[in-house]
This record gives sequence, C-alpha cells and structure tokens, in this order.
Amino acid sequence: MKIVPVIILILFLVTCNNVKRNNSIYNESTGNNGSPVDDQGCKIPGNREIEKQKKNQNPFDLTEAELIEMISGLPSKIKTRIMEKSGEFLKLIDRALTLPEKTLVLVDKDHPLPADYIPEDLVNLNTYPLVLSKKNLILRRTILPDLLEMVVDAEKEGITLVLSSCYRSYKTQERIYNWNVETYGKAQADRESAQPGKSQHQLGVTIDFGTITDEYASTPAGKWLIKNAWKYGFSLSYPEEMEWLTGYKHECWHYRYISRIGTKIEKEFFEGIQQYFLIFMNENREKLFYKKSIAN
Ligand SMILES: [Zn+2]
Repeated sequence: MKIVPVIILILFLVTCNNVKRNNSIYNESTGNNGSPVDDQGCKIPGNREIEKQKKNQNPFDLTEAELIEMISGLPSKIKTRIMEKSGEFLKLIDRALTLPEKTLVLVDKDHPLPADYIPEDLVNLNTYPLVLSKKNLILRRTILPDLLEMVVDAEKEGITLVLSSCYRSYKTQERIYNWNVETYGKAQADRESAQPGKSQHQLGVTIDFGTITDEYASTPAGKWLIKNAWKYGFSLSYPEEMEWLTGYKHECWHYRYISRIGTKIEKEFFEGIQQYFLIFMNENREKLFYKKSIAN
C-alpha cells in the first residue's frame, strides 16, 4: 500500500509550487542559490531579494526630495495628492513614458511644433461611421479605436457626437489665424485662435465638436463629453477660468486625445487640468527617463 506516501509527496510538491508562484508576483527570478528554505522545505526570499522586490515596486531611482522638487511648481492641492499616493503616481507615470512622445507633448503659446511636422498616419474620416459637419476631416489613425468606441457608447445613450474640425496643417492654421487677426484684431485673435505651429490641431489628435460655440456646453452632447470623454482618452484642453494658465478662453468643444493612461493621470492627480499634467511631463520627461534607466 504505497498510495499514502505518494499523496504526501504530491501535496508537498503542489505546496512548494504555490509558494514559488506567490513570490514571482514581484520577481520571476526568485530561488537563487543559497536562499533560505521555509518549514516545508521551499525556498523563501532572502533580505537582498526583498530589497530588490521593494525596488521593483518603484520604477524610478527617485528620492522623496527629488519628487517634491519635480512637482514644486504645481498648486498645493495637486502636490498633496501626488505625495499622498506617490507609489501609484509613479507607476502610472512609468506607463505614460512608454507612450509615443507626441501623445503627451506640450503644445501651447510657448511650445510650438515645427512648421514641417505632419503626423505619418493621417486618415480621411469620410468612410468611417462618424458624423462629420463637413467632408474630408482628417485625424491620426492611432486614435480611431478609442474615438469610435466613444461615439458608439454616446449613441447608445441617445447622444450624437458631431465632429466639426480635426487635423489642421501649419499652413491651414496660418490662414485661420491671419483671418482672425484681420477680422477681430490681434489681441482678440490670440485669445481664441492659435498662431501657426502653436495649435494642438496640428497634432492630428484634436477634435472640435458640434457648433464650436459656447452654447455647446449646455447641449446634451457637450454635457456628455464633459462627463465621459476622459474614459476614452480625450481631454478638454481649455477649461473654464484657466485662460491665465492655458493662454486660451474656455473652449467647451475642443478635446485633445492624450490616451487613457493620460486622462487617468490627469483626472486622479492633476485636477483634470491637461495643462498642469503636460507641463509636468514636459519639464520632467528627460529626468524621469534617466531615473528609470538607473533604477534597474
Ligand atoms: Zn479646437
């Protein structure tokens, strides 16, 4: 009757395997030679290994003082939020650094795009199941899955999202800006229209919805976007009472795609203000890449 010893052996092996799996949540390379064993004879991580695991939870070789320095220019409410949940913040920032650089690039009155910047994957929207206010609107192909999902979900709630202006080349923006200056004067034009090279529309990921007027904010579609756009990676670029920061009057119709990770970070840590988030990324991107490179 050798069944009992065989069962004991199987139980022993299964238990060891489970413990190993649990350790590997942090680090696949557990079980170095010389590791101590537990009372079941399974290897358990030593001090050096635990230190390594802790380090793996923080993707950057960054001290608290260095993080405080990085966020020093932000409002105190945002600084407090980041320091309260710094572990989660840094993990999300680590993911944000894997995005293509242009996804979170800062484009504003002080940070223009090169005149010859044209995204490579622009597509004409005529053949897509989208409602366009005019033909031949263009966007980057990369944002279409999230845009189409947003449009379909809005439609399920009886909301039609109308796209009215999308990609604009440097030349097109130049024409629009010059027309605004001639029509309204330079001071007024600069509050409402970007100079060529300084428009988010040149990125090919920015959409003006609906009527492109202040009234859009109180329409069902305008209200739906304010509540839901972030879930699909779209961010309101020029919120109310932020002209002093963004350089532009409130534009309830103007949304830029910054990815779902981007809008999650913006919402959870930057009070939903795109400009604060993108300034942070612009100022710290290189340092964060360096701090990541020396963390491993
Ligand atoms: Zn716009």
